[in-house]
Amino acid sequence: LLQLSAPLNMLGMMYREVKQAMTNLERLFGLLDERQDVQDRPGAVPLHATQPQVRFEAVRFAYDPRRQILRDVDFTIAPGATVAVVGHSGSGKSTLARLLYRFYDIDGGRITITDASGTEHDIRDYTQHSVRATIAIVPQDTVLFNDTIYYNIEYGRPGATREEVEHAARAAHIHEQIAALPDGYDTEVGERGLKLSGGEKQRVAIARALLKNPAILIFDEATSALDTRSEQAIQGELDRIALGRTTLTIAHRLSTVMGADEILVMDAGRIVERGTHLDLIARQGVYAAMWKLQQQERMEELREAAQVPQP
Ligand code: ATP
Repeated sequence: LLQLSAPLNMLGMMYREVKQAMTNLERLFGLLDERQDVQDRPGAVPLHATQPQVRFEAVRFAYDPRRQILRDVDFTIAPGATVAVVGHSGSGKSTLARLLYRFYDIDGGRITITDASGTEHDIRDYTQHSVRATIAIVPQDTVLFNDTIYYNIEYGRPGATREEVEHAARAAHIHEQIAALPDGYDTEVGERGLKLSGGEKQRVAIARALLKNPAILIFDEATSALDTRSEQAIQGELDRIALGRTTLTIAHRLSTVMGADEILVMDAGRIVERGTHLDLIARQGVYAAMWKLQQQERMEELREAAQVPQP
């Protein structure tokens, strides 16, 4: 037995070491998601912004020079306003968000953000670090680290205090749920821990974003269908956190965009229609057709739900 226990102890130690190394690796990858392939210009200055205006001016972009993705995209998000983008899958909606976050540099035109004095500058004139610090993204699919729920929220602003983390969780309506868990904020989540639903993950993402207290918010709506109640709850939270922040929403459900200051309809990398919900309905074009289709789908769902035999 003694002969066996030494190698077993050894194995146990190795297992812990490997597990630790993997966690560190995940943290490292987390840090590395700040892409390094765009470079700061010499003399780039830090962006300080409170309620900035964001503008895309004749923006052209291709991931691969053989295939143009965005063509002459023009729009402005006024300080604190919300612009929503809709369009078929692959029309270039998420690409707009990636370009604003400066994952890639554009091939033509310019993207500008106003600084604290209200002066408009090309985002390439700011340090990329400061641009990314100004923007928070609530992504379609939130990556949770195999770590505690606390770590997963604090990730929005490493070094935040316990009070700040809890405050963000409260604002994202997830604090009560966390507090009710036996291990509370120390509960492990992810593959090896507690599995969170799509809606819960999105709330963690919202808490992360809130912790960053960003002047610019990018919301990439989840395509996966949340049930109508979670959808409405999350929508309410988003409307609240978007208040006073310059917001770009990439929407899949038109119900999300009704309140936006402007809606852009994209098709094959171009903006083909723009206006408020009511403008676009009155226009009876692409958006109105999409709206009609979604309304029909909703009616079908309701009808199906009504046909479920009662016990
Ligand atoms: P969805 O509604 O499905 O999220 P989308 O409108 O957001 O779609 P984008 O993700 O912006 O579309 O993609 C626009 C086009 O660019 C697509 O044809 C896509 O295949 C292509 N694309 C996206 N990312 C890359 C990449 N990293 N490299 C090459 N092509 C890409």
